[in-house]
Amino acid sequence: NMKIKTIICLMLFSLISVFGCSQKNTPVKALIVTGQNNHVWEVSHMAIKQILENSGLFTVDLAVSPAKGENMSGFRPDFSAYKLIVLDYNGDRWPEETDKAFLDYVQNGGGVLIYHAADNAFREWSEFNKILGFGGWEGRNETDGPYIYMKDGELIYDGSPGPGGSHGKQHEYVLHSDSPEHPVMKGLPAKWMHAKDELYDRMRGPGKVKDVLYWAYSDPETGGSGRDELSIFTVDYGTARIFHTTLGHAGKTLDDNIAMQCAGFQITLLRGAEWAATGKVTQEIPADFPTETKISLRKNYRE
Ligand code: ZN
Repeated sequence: NMKIKTIICLMLFSLISVFGCSQKNTPVKALIVTGQNNHVWEVSHMAIKQILENSGLFTVDLAVSPAKGENMSGFRPDFSAYKLIVLDYNGDRWPEETDKAFLDYVQNGGGVLIYHAADNAFREWSEFNKILGFGGWEGRNETDGPYIYMKDGELIYDGSPGPGGSHGKQHEYVLHSDSPEHPVMKGLPAKWMHAKDELYDRMRGPGKVKDVLYWAYSDPETGGSGRDELSIFTVDYGTARIFHTTLGHAGKTLDDNIAMQCAGFQITLLRGAEWAATGKVTQEIPADFPTETKISLRKNYRE
């Protein structure tokens, strides 16, 4: 009987559609690693958690380490249970098993988001620094890898001697991009004004940059390097998807936190997070994205 067959087919089809849709809308599991930092991690990790969760795209768990100097041996996050690991950690070395579990996660094609001073961490751990792409401070110099910057739109790996990691005074600055085709970038402007923040410069490392998403001119007038510095980029490391943002110096409280309240910071972070976790970006470009001349703030960390 054709009629019954047609009805069964239609029922199956709608079941598959409904199931397919609900699968697509399942939030992705992310883990923020935090607990020690030379920054106010109590603020930064809460801001990131809100940005990720308020989007509806992520559920967020926290791996909060013991305080500096305390026994780290029990700090054993289960990285493998997550699609995205957010590093908001700059402190004491992890136990050996945790180092190994993190490397396994990344080398199995994991998604990693490196946020601000997380790229100061673990100077002496060379494999970790390849995952960062570059890092700064903690005594870094030419022995930690070349100074990586942009010149006339080209990536430069400069091995000449010098310090690794500095920044001038905080100020508003324009981010520039020449990578409109990257999934994180599709629809984002080539130039936008970032709210008052640090601008990391003279960063060094043993890693390979994959795509420079945004760079910024580090003006000597504000204590900068006089070069075009990488601000947001991806790292070439096997099959892993690694998104690195140097933006977002944390303020004293969630309310007094202008660099992280910048809509441009939040939207690029969220797009980078989705790309690192899934390889795709499904988000529309919101109307409140900053322009080339005007900053835009999201004080409540949501659209
Ligand atoms: Zn900072």
